[in-house]
Amino acid sequence: MRVMVAGAAGFLGSHLTDYFLQQGDQVVGVDNLCTGSMRNIDHLSNEPRFEFIEHDICEPLDAGKVDYVFSFASPASPVDYQRLGIETLMTGAIGTKNMLDIARRYKAKFLHASTSECYGDPSVHPQNEDYWGNVNPVGPRSVYDEAKRFAESLVMAYYRYYSVDTRLVRIFNTYGPRLQKTDGRVISNFMMQALKGEDLTIYGDGSQTRSFCYVSDEIEGIIGLSRSGEHFPVNVGNPTEWTILECARAVLRVTGSSSKIVNRPLPQDDPMQRKPDISKAQRLFQWEPKIDLETGLKLSLDYFKSCI
Ligand code: NAD
Ligand code: UDP
Repeated sequence: MRVMVAGAAGFLGSHLTDYFLQQGDQVVGVDNLCTGSMRNIDHLSNEPRFEFIEHDICEPLDAGKVDYVFSFASPASPVDYQRLGIETLMTGAIGTKNMLDIARRYKAKFLHASTSECYGDPSVHPQNEDYWGNVNPVGPRSVYDEAKRFAESLVMAYYRYYSVDTRLVRIFNTYGPRLQKTDGRVISNFMMQALKGEDLTIYGDGSQTRSFCYVSDEIEGIIGLSRSGEHFPVNVGNPTEWTILECARAVLRVTGSSSKIVNRPLPQDDPMQRKPDISKAQRLFQWEPKIDLETGLKLSLDYFKSCI
């Protein structure tokens, strides 16, 4: 296969790229480096089956025939997408359209990286794919949430009106090596703070929950979906739910750090709880995650040490 990965210099996109190259496929990586880093794909500089195009997907692109488009380009952390608000909205809208047009032109399959943020601050728990969500359309997170919800709608429209063979994965919080150290996400912040001996900053009282998936499990789930024939959204995430305070304590255990835990104000519209119902993924492609949080943090330790 010749696969296009948009967002190839990012955290998930670079792991996806590695997966396809290991399978013997060719990869065209596209990225404008707004939040990603060449460091994530440096190891591929001499790989003849990998081609990198520095490009903003909001501009049209034709890189020749491809068999599958993986649409992963978008700022993803609250710090990044709030810094790049307009770019995030345009990437979700125009950028996703440009990627869908490539799939349509070459009759390629298409998989879009959507998110648990489509559920907003959910009132249904755990979240299954039939839940329509509780999103503030005008709050600070809306530049991301509404971009992703519009993108889901656009993907479904290309499926319905143009018969493009599309898939939608709703990714829940994923972590591991290559998470940008300064992107402000909870795992990168806590790991860097613990390793540098700084205070771990808990926003609010730490009782809000997230469910953390290790990157290799997430990639396996995404590949499972890519091979399935499902066109409606599918949750892929680890259903074990942690409070943010428990997560901070796990980071301290794994790093052996004696950093203190301090509290900071909770950002506006920060979801109180998040946990995927993964029964659809289990039923459709027999996927479930294998790596628990502490094991995943241990597997990420060398990477975060290398970021200091
Ligand atoms: P990331 O920031 O590491 O990667 C995103 C990549 O997209 C970066 O390399 C960035 O430079 C690139 N990019 C952004 N806008 C672009 C544009 N207009 N043109 C070209 N490239 C552009 O983030 P990630 O965690 O790897 O996220 C990848 C995808 O998965 C995103 O779509 C994100 O919304 C989705 N997602 C991730 C998570 C998670 O926990 N990691 C959760 C839900 C959804
Ligand atoms: N968080 C925190 N301290 C930090 C970074 C994040 O307490 O240094 C909290 C944040 O308020 C949220 C959770 O951790 O409740 C997850 O935040 P993240 O930015 O990783 O992703 P989100 O799931 O909110 O998109």
